[in-house]
Order: sequence, then structure tokens, then C-alpha cells
Amino acid sequence: MKLVLASSNKGKLEELRQLLADADVELVAQSELGVGDAEETGLGFVENALLKARHAAALTGLPALADDSGICVDVLGGAPGIYSARYAGEHGNAQANIDKLLRELGDVDDARRDAHFYCVLVLVRHAHDPQPLIAEGQWNGTILRARRGSGGHGYDPVFFDPQHAQSAAEMPAQLKNSLSHRGKALAELRQKFVKASF
Ligand code: IMP
Repeated sequence: MKLVLASSNKGKLEELRQLLADADVELVAQSELGVGDAEETGLGFVENALLKARHAAALTGLPALADDSGICVDVLGGAPGIYSARYAGEHGNAQANIDKLLRELGDVDDARRDAHFYCVLVLVRHAHDPQPLIAEGQWNGTILRARRGSGGHGYDPVFFDPQHAQSAAEMPAQLKNSLSHRGKALAELRQKFVKASF
């Protein structure tokens, strides 16, 4: 079955392709089909993922998969949330985003630095699908006072998993995938996908 991925991010495409490898699914990036990015006008992760999936399905006539993710910090009322990628202004500038987050948290004490990564995946059969498959995953941790580790991407160097006593950037990829919001969301989506009549 052919599915369009409502993203032009090559890393995401590869990651999702690997994770869906045994699901008899051919995943094609929307950019390969000439589809541009949808406007993300929602106020939450689910809304934005749905907007992206419906946009890709409408323009391609194919079932579509979209994801939305970010980091939410309790003491900041869930910010940066859906704005994680462009928290400091420029889209995808991880360095500046982390600097801003550390500045915003300033001298907030350790007990109040709880945060979580969140990911939602949405699969629609067609643009007007009234019953999309929706799966979510969350990874709880805290925000460090300074960067630790050199792996990963985005906010990984300042996201600390207390159970493993490591930042996300210090973990081997396999460990991160087994704990991560994205890994959990995908596992849930796979289960729903197998049960649903797609
Ligand atoms: P999007 O899902 O592509 O919109 O990106 C969301 C943003 O959240 C990314 O640009 C990162 O800044 C952040 N983010 C999401 N997942 C992770 C993760 O696993 N590690 C680090 N940062 C992440």
C-alpha cells in the first residue's frame, strides 16, 4: 500500500520507512509528489498533524501519514510546545532554541524543571476521513542547566531522563528510540493500523 508522508524532512522519512519496513507499506514523501507544506494554524499537536495529513491526502489522492512533535516544559505552561522548532524565531535553529529555553528557565530550581517530549502521528485514509487513526507518545524528563552529550538533535542535549541518568544526547540511538515519544507513538500506530481496515 502506498502512503504519502506529510513532511519533506528526509530524516523523518527514513526513520518512518525503517519502522514500517515489515508493514507492507510504501512511504513516499509529499515533496516527491510536488506537494508543499500545509499551513500549521492549529493550537495543538493533534490539530496540526491532522491539518498536514488532510492537506497531503487532498492533493495526492493517497492515504496520508503526518506527525507533529515538540517539547513541553511544565513551568512554562507547556511552551515551547508546537512552536518547538521555531522557539527562537528561525525554524530549526537548535542552538538558538536551546539558548532561549535555558534563558527562560534561568534560575528555576531543579524540582521545577519537569518537561516532556510529545509526538502525535495521524493517519487518514483520504482527505475527508471522519475516523483518522491517531497515536501518541510521551517521554518524561527534566531540563538540564547546561548541555550534555553530542548525539541526537533538537533539544536532546538539555533533556535529561532521570531513570537512565543520561541526557537524550548521551544515549545510543537504539536506547533513545526505545524510550522516545516518537518510538512510542509509532508502536501504538502500528497496532491500530493492523487492527483497522486500511
Ligand atoms: P516537528 O515535529 O518537525 O514539527 O519538529 C518539532 C521540534 O521539536 C523539532 O524541531 C525539535 O526542536 C523538537 N523535537 C521533537 N522531537 C525531538 C527529539 O526527539 N529530540 C529533540 N528535539 C525534538
